Amino acid sequence: MSKIKDAKIVIIGGGAVGCGTAYQLALAGETDILLIEKEPSVAAVTSAQAAGLVGQVRTSMERTQLAMWSVKTFSDLQKDTKTNPSWRQVGSLRVALNDARVEEFNRMKAIADRAGLETEYITPKVAEEKWPGMNFSMAKSILWCPTDGYLQPYDLTASYCSQSGRRGVQFSVNTAAEQIVMKDGRVTGVVTDKGTIRCETVINAAGAHAFHIAKLVGLELPIVPVRHEYFISVPCDGLTPELPVIRIPDLSLYIRTDVNALLLGGWEPNPLHTDPQKYALGGNPPGIEPDWDVLAKFAEDLIPQFPKASDLGILSVFKGWPTFTPDGRFIIGPTEKVKGFVMAGGCNA
Ligand SMILES: Cc1cc2nc3c(=O)[nH]c(=O)nc-3n(C[C@H](O)[C@H](O)[C@H](O)COP(=O)(O)OP(=O)(O)OC[C@H]3O[C@@H](n4cnc5c(N)ncnc54)[C@H](O)[C@@H]3O)c2cc1C
Repeated sequence: MSKIKDAKIVIIGGGAVGCGTAYQLALAGETDILLIEKEPSVAAVTSAQAAGLVGQVRTSMERTQLAMWSVKTFSDLQKDTKTNPSWRQVGSLRVALNDARVEEFNRMKAIADRAGLETEYITPKVAEEKWPGMNFSMAKSILWCPTDGYLQPYDLTASYCSQSGRRGVQFSVNTAAEQIVMKDGRVTGVVTDKGTIRCETVINAAGAHAFHIAKLVGLELPIVPVRHEYFISVPCDGLTPELPVIRIPDLSLYIRTDVNALLLGGWEPNPLHTDPQKYALGGNPPGIEPDWDVLAKFAEDLIPQFPKASDLGILSVFKGWPTFTPDGRFIIGPTEKVKGFVMAGGCNA
């Protein structure tokens, strides 16, 4: 077996975050990079399960600008006719059902305005023209963002890999990081099951294992995997891929079309979460079975807005453990404690 290649930068984890990091570094001219992924392919864990919704209207300037940057990136990647993220800029409708939410939308719109993100309040009638078949009559406010949309997360990751591979980034799948080598307080290498890689910088993009990788260098970070799931229905008359994404935060629901089917997911008020200390770096978070009670509740809650939800058959369920932090912010960047160790964890929707 040939020795695994050394590299200036090693990225641990080939999900959307690790591959996106490789792409941005390559664009910035940094190409001596080796991305290692323990599974047989990239995007094999959380990223391939994602619904692919891209929403730029956020409660902080930082997140709004980050999402705007993402949209620019997806639009650039979409120009490649062969490998692209299947990005559809269909716009999004954010629906408020109570006064407190209307206030929140006003605050979010003010941030969007300051960030230069185009948004507009529209009437239920205009919303119904954009999404025929959806009843918006109970909406207290509807915020339209024309540059939002959705993509196919697996395609996005493949697109990042294709673009960064062309610029010289190397990928090694079936390669698990086991230890971080350090000398005099700085990173000097990564021990993997394929041998040791000498490097100057390690980027931890290990998703639900980012906690464990950080622990290898003595960092204990509050990264919590939280269960999330959605379903795709059987094909439904009247649905087309061009319909905008809808978010109804008061029902904790999000909706988009998937070809001519409905994709329906939600944020559970008390979601199942797991303690990363309960599984090892070499192990996995608990397996997830579809929670039919939760999925049925998503459909039931949507019936007043979309009566067809009452008898929609479910074709497939997607699920996983995206990671969250206590304050909801991402843990991104270098640490003073260990030179050359960079975090890209706790990244959620
Ligand atoms: C059902 C569902 C729906 C979602 N919908 C959306 C959405 O609509 N929009 C949105 O923005 N987000 C959504 N998300 C969240 C999104 O999927 C995650 O934020 C994103 O995929 C996280 O990417 P990641 O690269 O951090 O993690 P992952 O995709 O999990 O990648 C981490 C990688 O690290 C690898 N790894 C771990 N340990 C090691 C090791 N020791 N050595 C080498 N490799 C290792 C893993 O194998 C894995 O491939 C959704 C998530 C779920 C589950």
